[in-house]
This record gives sequence, structure tokens and C-alpha cells, in this order.
Amino acid sequence: MTQTKQVWSKPTLTPHQMGSMNKFGSVSHSHHQDSFEGVAIAPLLEKYGSPLFILSEKRLRNNVRKLLRAFETRYTSVTYSWSYKTNYLGAVCTTFHQEGAWAEVVSAFEYEKARSLGVPAKHILFNGPHKQRFILERVVAEGARIHLDNLDELYVLEDIAKEAGKQVDVTMRLNFDTGYTEPWSRFGFNIESGQAMDAARILGESKHLNLAGLHSHLGTFVLDPRAYSAQIHIMCAFMNDVESQTGCHIESIDIGGGFASMNSLQGSYLPPEQVVPSIDQYAEAICTALNDATRERDMQGKGRPRLILESGRAMVDDAEILVTSVIANKRMPDGRRSVVIDAGVNLLFTGFWYNHPITPTRPLDGVAEDTVLYGPLCMNIDIMRQSAMLPPMNVGDSLIFGHVGAYNNTQWMQFIEYRPNIIMVHEDSSVSVVRHAEDLQVMTAQEVIPEHLSSVTKR
Ligand SMILES: *Cc1c(COP(=O)(O)O)cnc(C)c1O
Repeated sequence: MTQTKQVWSKPTLTPHQMGSMNKFGSVSHSHHQDSFEGVAIAPLLEKYGSPLFILSEKRLRNNVRKLLRAFETRYTSVTYSWSYKTNYLGAVCTTFHQEGAWAEVVSAFEYEKARSLGVPAKHILFNGPHKQRFILERVVAEGARIHLDNLDELYVLEDIAKEAGKQVDVTMRLNFDTGYTEPWSRFGFNIESGQAMDAARILGESKHLNLAGLHSHLGTFVLDPRAYSAQIHIMCAFMNDVESQTGCHIESIDIGGGFASMNSLQGSYLPPEQVVPSIDQYAEAICTALNDATRERDMQGKGRPRLILESGRAMVDDAEILVTSVIANKRMPDGRRSVVIDAGVNLLFTGFWYNHPITPTRPLDGVAEDTVLYGPLCMNIDIMRQSAMLPPMNVGDSLIFGHVGAYNNTQWMQFIEYRPNIIMVHEDSSVSVVRHAEDLQVMTAQEVIPEHLSSVTKR
């Protein structure tokens, strides 16, 4: 056996500053993580390259099961719908669908993707402000559920339904102020201004559209469960009003997504373990409010509406990690230590507002020092972490960015670098590629070079 030689690393001088965390303070990097879901990371990097996204099938399944358990034990009728834009990798979506999730889509592309994965149209909620006529025609023909965003859409839909000779059930998206979050008033119909009731009356008179559901989505990373209690009470009051004024029957109350995941928002002082409510806490607030708000209705024999959940980030964030390797070490002119790594903001869009947990894949010794982590892009904005307390690392050492499952594999950008492999660790610890790394052929597949530009020398 060959003995690996100890690598020499430069000694560092670290001034200890009052008030900042240092090796005598609370931050220690003695912890490391060399495996994910029981599978060693080093051989995965060897085989699939660096950087590398790794998903856990088990965590995806457990997250949805936990969500459904929390709500189904507290309320009579619950449906979970997976928000495609949060992570629409086919393997992620189908894992959720196998757990009973419907699809929540917000564009023609997402609708087509859900259908191509085999989701029945009646289990698709079509949301969002942009639904072109061609896709609405398909959606009406196939019978998916449409969430109306505005009056122009309402009229187009009515026209399509009329042409198809159909009576189409629709859901109205609502917006209002709960007093707990900044209202997202750009989506749907506003309750306080009377706009929502006006639209409901139009639907009440329509021969082709039938108001059957109410929807709202408060925002994202909502840390106070009371926001949801308020949301439920406002929506149920509107439900009762709209039923008595238009004679419609509301079958479902869809409360959107917004549950926070175990990530730290930049600028937030407390760790997520202390500020992020558990799924049970959200469920308790929501179901208590809903049971209260629908009790009378239930006693009148009208039944309780189906509760629809569209939680995105809280279902997927902790089910994926990004492993990245050190390319170079540098000392900045101001003396700060900097490390260049091979994953940048092109891959980790959420790095702009989260401080993801960062964990080395081997024990690092040496004094932890305030370090800036730069990505590989030749762009000044490519900062993966402004400040992390890390001991010295060698070229080739790897780091794990945790909780990257939400909004990165959809909002990432093709910029400068090829996007890397995404693999999934399955429940039996086997591993498969769920999205191949890009290469030149993928990158140029959509391009067309006109004949006279087909050579780099002018003819
Ligand atoms: C984005 C979105 C979701 C998911 O939101 P999260 O904050 O990720 O839970 C759910 N519903 C709608 C309508 C959305 O736009």
C-alpha cells in the first residue's frame, strides 16, 4: 500500500477581533460530512464530476408523507399539489406524484411537462398570470383545473368554454392583507377593493364558467403560522359571502405554499432551528382555523371544502445538496482569505438570499478564518458566500452546500459554464443520474448558423 504524504499547508496569522466569532467563539468546523444518505461522497465526485447536485429520494418521500400526516390527522379532506416551478426535474415530480401529489403548474411548459409525465389533467392546477389561448384550449378539452388570475383571462376562458360547448369549473385566485406578510397583490383578484366579489358575480352570471374553488398564495418563506390562520378566516368569510350572493358552491380552498425551509435568510440573526416553524405548527394553525371557520357550514349540511396545499420549498429544500470543490486559494489585498470553488451563482440562485449551511467533506484542522467563497464565473457578482468561518482548505477539497432543493434546478442559469450532473440516491442506496451534465452539443442544439456565417473565414 502506498502511504499518502501529508500535505504541507501555509501557517496563517489570525488577528482575534472583539465581537466577531473566532476559534474561541461559537463556530467550530470540527464537524464534517463525508456521506449523503449513507452513500460516500468522494466516489460520487470521482464518478460524476464536480460540482455535483445530489438528491435524496427518501427525503422527498418523507417530506410529503410528513405533510400529509400533519394535515390529514387534523382535517377531513386534504390534497397536496406539487409546485412545479420549485423543482421540475422529472424524477422529483414523479417521486411526489407517487406519494399522491397533484401538479401545480404556472405555464404552458409546466402543464405540458406534467401531462408528459403522466399526470391526469384533473389532477393539475393551472395557476399563474400567463396562460395563452392555445394552452387554455387544451386545458379545457382535457379538464384540468384553472385558477383565474384576471378578468381578461376570464373572458378568454368563457369564450373557449362556449366554443367547446362546455361548462367549466374554475377557481379564483384571491389576494388580501392578512396583516402578517406583505400582500402579493399583483396576482389574482383583490378582496378589500371589491374586485374579487365583482369577478365572482360575473362568474355567477356566466353560462359557461362555474366558480367552484378559491385560491390564494400569501408569499414565500412565511415564518408566522398566524398568517395562515388569518388567510383561512378571510377566505372562508369570502366563501360564505360569494355563495350567498351568487349561488355558487365552493368545493375547495387552496392556500398555496409558502412554508419556510430550514435555511437562514441572509441578515437573519437566529438559526433556522429557532425561527422556522415545524410542519405540525403550520398544520395546527391552518386546520384549527379551517375547522372553526367551516363548522357552521358543516352543520348546515353543506360539507367542508377540500383543503389544497401547494407547499414547494419546504418539501424539497433539504432533499438536495450541492457538492463543490476548491479550485484555488487567494489572499485579498485587505488580508482576507478567499477561496475559489467550482460552483457559482449560475447554479445556486438562492445563494443571493440564503446562507446555506456549508459543511466540509473531511475533517479540516487549522484555525478557522473569515473566508469569502467565490464561484468560478468571470463575473464580479459570483460570490457564493460573503463570509464563512472556515479552516484552510486544499485545492481539490470539497464542500457541501445544504438545502439547495428549492428553486435552484429551475432558476439556475446557463451562463459561462456547463451545468453539472444531478444524481439521486434511492431508498436502497443505489444511485442514478436524473439529469445529465450539459456538453457542447446540448448547448448549441437550438442554434442555427446562417450559411454565409458557417465559416470563421469570410468568403
Ligand atoms: C411558487 C408557488 C408555490 C410554492 O411556494 P413555496 O413558497 O415554495 O412553498 C405554491 N403556489 C403558488 C401559486 C406559487 O406561485
